[in-house]
Amino acid sequence: MIPRLVLASNNAGKLREFRRLLGPLAIEVIAQADLGIAEADEPHVTFVENALAKARHASAIAGLPALADDSGICVRALGGAPGVHSARYGGEPRSDAGNNARLIGALRDVADRRAHYACLLVLVRHAADPEPIIAEGDWHGTIVDAPRGSGGFGYDPHFLDATTGLTAAELPLAQKNELSHRGRAMRALIAKLLADGA
Ligand code: IMP
Repeated sequence: MIPRLVLASNNAGKLREFRRLLGPLAIEVIAQADLGIAEADEPHVTFVENALAKARHASAIAGLPALADDSGICVRALGGAPGVHSARYGGEPRSDAGNNARLIGALRDVADRRAHYACLLVLVRHAADPEPIIAEGDWHGTIVDAPRGSGGFGYDPHFLDATTGLTAAELPLAQKNELSHRGRAMRALIAKLLADGA
């Protein structure tokens, strides 16, 4: 099993989540910022391309295996938008409020509210790894106009989970992790890592 890897993200919340999940596997997770590695560009139109670019960038500089994730919300009536642009959908400066306002505006008078969160994880054993370990997770629901709940982040107050009838911001964190795109992708990645013996 890989003894340590670099996480290609500067998001403190993601670092905490990945450390908690990979800790039992005795994999040490090092934040790229702690190695002086700047965030890579995300110029691509798919989650998998962006995650691969981030993982390769961090691995090449650190000389370590690297894990990267790319995620976002895809709205069916908007052709999958905001998708890879979720973090900056509302323009600069980036804010959850701006992103949500644009989303709700784009869905005015739109009856089809179906949406899903998507998370794509990539682990490269080294920068030129020809067989990256790739795992994905989806979380299906609908977009509601009126925000509900104070937990989570991003689009969560407007994302109504299909199974519980609660928004993602109303779910306790442990339950969100059970249901969420990121939780599902992480569990799939761990299963692949164990099977691979990486
Ligand atoms: P990135 O993957 O860090 O580049 O950003 C993904 C963006 O998608 C975030 O900034 C949020 O706007 C959105 N997003 C991803 N996952 C979630 C989630 O679990 N809840 C709410 N918003 C999310």
